[in-house]
Amino acid sequence: MSSLDELYRQVILDHYRNPRHRGVLTGPHVHAEGLNPSCGDEFSIDLKVEDGTIADVAIQGRGCSISQASGSMMTEAIVGKTLHDARLLTTNFKLMMGIDVGADPLDPERPGAVLGDLEALQGVRKFPVRIKCATLPWTTLADALDQAET
Ligand code: ZN
Repeated sequence: MSSLDELYRQVILDHYRNPRHRGVLTGPHVHAEGLNPSCGDEFSIDLKVEDGTIADVAIQGRGCSISQASGSMMTEAIVGKTLHDARLLTTNFKLMMGIDVGADPLDPERPGAVLGDLEALQGVRKFPVRIKCATLPWTTLADALDQAET
């Protein structure tokens, strides 16, 4: 295992063991739930949206380390971002996973499009069966964003 793989493994394990933004929100928020039947992963998200920006986020879930770490990393990446930038990030993440989303790769220098710690999950694309684990939080987020925009 290369030192970069080892670093990525540590980042994933840290998020799995110490998930960020875990819990539920009170007050007005949108809520979405997702399921990955092939692995048994469950994920739910609460978003508080103020003036088109994600003001707060809370997640709950259970399942494999990839799905839960991905969700934890996602919360850190999206809090404080506009709904638009959260969608950009969703696209970038899926592209990193090798999923054809019918969009061109976004400029990684673009503010809002930076994946940061999420790059630790790029090795998952080598294991097709786990890609749905990594993307579960993001497909759930997309549902929540749809609700927030209506
Ligand atoms: Zn899984």
